[in-house]
This record gives sequence, structure tokens and C-alpha cells, in this order.
Amino acid sequence: MDWKKKLLSTVTAVTFGVSILFGAPVAQASLLGTAIGIGTTLAEGNAMRKQVKELIKKFNETPEGQQALYQQFREKFGVDDNIEYNEKLDRIMANLTKGVAAVDPTINDKPYKYFVAAQDDLNAACTMAHVMMVNRGTFKALPNEDEIAAIVGHEMGHGQKNHAVKGLEKQVNQRITSGLLGATIGGGIAGLITDVALNHTFAHKDKKFETEADSLSVDYLVNTSYNLGATAAVMQRFVEMSIGKERSRAEAFFKPSDHPDSARRRDACAKKLFEYSGKHVEAKDGTIKVNKKTFMKPVAAGNMSGAERSYFVLGNLARAYHDGQNKHEATVQNGSVMLGSQIIVTPAEGDEDAQVLADRLNSIK
Ligand SMILES: [Zn+2]
Repeated sequence: MDWKKKLLSTVTAVTFGVSILFGAPVAQASLLGTAIGIGTTLAEGNAMRKQVKELIKKFNETPEGQQALYQQFREKFGVDDNIEYNEKLDRIMANLTKGVAAVDPTINDKPYKYFVAAQDDLNAACTMAHVMMVNRGTFKALPNEDEIAAIVGHEMGHGQKNHAVKGLEKQVNQRITSGLLGATIGGGIAGLITDVALNHTFAHKDKKFETEADSLSVDYLVNTSYNLGATAAVMQRFVEMSIGKERSRAEAFFKPSDHPDSARRRDACAKKLFEYSGKHVEAKDGTIKVNKKTFMKPVAAGNMSGAERSYFVLGNLARAYHDGQNKHEATVQNGSVMLGSQIIVTPAEGDEDAQVLADRLNSIK
């Protein structure tokens, strides 16, 4: 079979496949024009762009499209059926789905399809159609469920705001413009779209989108029982992981060019909690302040640095202030410092005594 005939049959097969999936014809002339190397005319290019828009919409907005992407992601990245990881992700998704719905009810019309990917990097991804995966490497690296929830919340932020679609449309159109469609003709436009979706999933690199997703992660955590400081805490962990041998794993999530950003993003999350608390609580360099006065500087404990722990204390204090628990006394219950009914911190070995901390909190709150 000569190459032209081969291409012809491939294109026909692909078109058929796409028609079956979406019941929509694909402009074969345009695909062929590129495939056989005669280039695209302006009209053909415009027709393709229109098709790209329509096809992305079908992938993004129909159950069939969601299912097709979900399948492709599972095949490409592999599925890990570890019971502990899967149960944890099920629980996080159930909790966060409620957390998202409280501020963005559109999630009820478009629930997420997700899985634990058989990948060892600390990473997670959300593509269009609310298809999401969390790598098993994330569960291995982060023993704390709140921090995994913070990462999943970040991904759901991308999903709720359609960030993947915005980036994808641009990239597919760039490929059409530069004539690269020919190279991927085996899959036609639908194939090109899934190809770009699969290969550019991890592009957490648009700063505007990242900032928005971080902020949404905190918003979604508000209506769950997870700690509001978990997003800042996981950023702190990434900052620390970037120092020394674990650098590459941190960079998988925060691309090298953006890497200095994780400290900035951590601080942005902490600032958000400062605002949420009514400007009462802050954390910087591991020290937590209440009304500008030092409350405590936690020691490293439980697989966390003191700085990472400080964001959990900050999250508890922010929730306490926001919910008006600061009208009540700080007390010690079962070894934990409480403010009203909100737990603030359970001192670890090396931290100051719980009663000392409760007394200090009463004097500065
Ligand atoms: Zn991101």
C-alpha cells in the first residue's frame, strides 16, 4: 500500500470512529489536505478551528466525551488499585465535592471522574470534562490527608474554571497553524485533541491559573472538615523538598521556571487566611502571630517541619476567628489547645506546654 492510500484509509477509519462517538461528521477534505502535504488553505484552517471548538465542546460537555477521555487517561498513565489510596481518594472527592458545591453548584451537573494513576511522581492532573487523576506518588509522599485534599482542591479549581479547555484550544490551533496536524493525522482532530490533552496535562505553568486554583483550593476547604491551612502547608513542603535531593519531585508539580513561585504561592494562601480571620492571624517563617503578637513557633513533628506545622495552626486559628470562637476562652482539652469549640493545636514533644499556650492565647486574643 502506498503512503497516500494508507493515509486515506487511516483518515476514513478515524473519521468513522469519531462519528460513532459523537455522531458528528469530520471534514475529511481538511484532514486530507494536511495529510498529503498540500497544506491548508485559509478556509480550511478556519473550518478546522471551528471543528476544534465543536469537538472540544463535545469532549468537555457530554458524558460520552468524558468517558472517552477518562479511558484514554487510564490507558496512558495506568491505574493503581491500592485499596488504601483509592479509599482515601474516594473520601477526599466526596468531601470536596460538597465543599465545591457550597460555593459553585455547577459541580452537581458535572461530577468528576477520577482515578489513582500508577505514576510515582508527586503530582495530580485535571483535564477537560472534569477528568482527574492523582498519582500514587502523591499518596506515598504525603501522609497527611488534608494536604492531599488541598492538592485535589487545586485541581478542582482548574476543573471548575475550565482552565484545561482554555489552554487546549490554543495549543491545538497552534498546531493546525504550524501544519503539525499532518504528523498526528492517525488520530484526526479528535486524536489531536486527546493527544494534546494527554501530553500537556501537567502544564501547571500559567501563573494566573495557578493563583486562581490555589485560592479556590482554600475556598473549597472552607466547607469541609479539612484544615484551611493545608494549601499553604503543602506549598511549604514543596519549598523544603526543593532543597536537596528531592528537588526533582517537587519540580514535577512546580515546573522549574516557576519554582521560586511556591514560596510566593504559600504566602498568598497565608494572606488569604489572614483576611479570612478578619485580619487577626498570621504565620511567617514558622512563627504564628495573633493580633500581631507572637503566639507560638511549633517544633518539627510528625513528618513535618515546624514551618509546615505552623500553617495548620494558622488554618485552625483562621477558622476559629471566622466562626466567632474567639469570643470564648482558650482552654486545654485532652492535651489540645482549644478556642471555643475549635481545636487550635495539639502540642508535640518539644513544643511549649498546652496550658502555657492557652494562657498566652487568652492574653493576646
Ligand atoms: Zn495547577
